[in-house]
Amino acid sequence: MTFLEYSLNSPREGFVDITAQVRKAVRKSEVADGLAVVYCPHTTAGVTINENADPDVVSDLLLGLERAFPERTEYRHAEGNSTAHLKASAVGSSVTVIIENGNLVLGTWQGIYFCEFDGPRHRKFLVKIR
Ligand code: ZN
Repeated sequence: MTFLEYSLNSPREGFVDITAQVRKAVRKSEVADGLAVVYCPHTTAGVTINENADPDVVSDLLLGLERAFPERTEYRHAEGNSTAHLKASAVGSSVTVIIENGNLVLGTWQGIYFCEFDGPRHRKFLVKIR
């Protein structure tokens, strides 16, 4: 396997901090100078980087996404979870982080989040380190 796969049980809607798992993957890889790609292989969940110091930031991000992508009767997707698809595309499905001296280069307040918009589900995310 040329990438690592992690699984998690997600909340109904919310951000799960996966920074520690990615840091551990980088240390284990023994790559000193490179890149880490964190990828979400789902269409109603995503991955993003944002503040992990004040939990109110995540709560505000969810509120903002709710405002930006409200439920609409015009949606055609029969599964009925179009807002989750919209939010997933808005946050994106991957992030790339620089590795220097064997560590992730993240800002002081930054964390990597798995973003669930249509849970709870058994989900996975992938990490590729080079
Ligand atoms: Zn759907």
